[in-house]
Amino acid sequence: QPLPLRTESDVEQEVQQNILVTSVDQVLNWARSSSLWPCMFGLACCAMEMIATATPRYDIARFGAEIFRASPRQADLLIVPGTVTWKMAPAVRRIWLQMPEPKWALAMGGCAIMGGPFAYAYSVTPGVNTLLPVDVYVPGCPPRPESLLTGLMLLQDKIKKDTIGKGWVRRDVEPQFQRYLP
Ligand code: SF4
Repeated sequence: QPLPLRTESDVEQEVQQNILVTSVDQVLNWARSSSLWPCMFGLACCAMEMIATATPRYDIARFGAEIFRASPRQADLLIVPGTVTWKMAPAVRRIWLQMPEPKWALAMGGCAIMGGPFAYAYSVTPGVNTLLPVDVYVPGCPPRPESLLTGLMLLQDKIKKDTIGKGWVRRDVEPQFQRYLP
């Protein structure tokens, strides 16, 4: 049985239905933003809300971010949930440095943002942005899982605006915070 001849409009229709034109940036950013792997890491009470975010009720898996990695080498998102003490600062900094590029950081809760209820305590840092570059700040004491998911979506939006054209620049803390580095 010979195949029926296809007209020019058939071919045109097939092309419209089956060919997707996009850019490398869009594909990469889509893949990166849809498969963020957070580091399995918690510091204080905010970590409980982060854990709740991974439960079926809040279902962080909807965003492809449910694979919390026990090794920083396999993570590309550092959620900092809780109070960052000076004693813990070298460990937080080391975890960040051990993560491969490209990577992102999210400060979760008042403590990680600016010391929270312990602001100005001798033992607590004035915010994790003194140790590593923060992409998204999620306020609250503690922020609820919905807030963390909102922060995750903001980060996805930020990643989607990235371009490989500029090359990958290794980011670090703002120059005014360099003096805090352990
Ligand atoms: Fe605990 Fe509040 Fe600090 Fe979060 S922001 S670690 S809930 S004190």
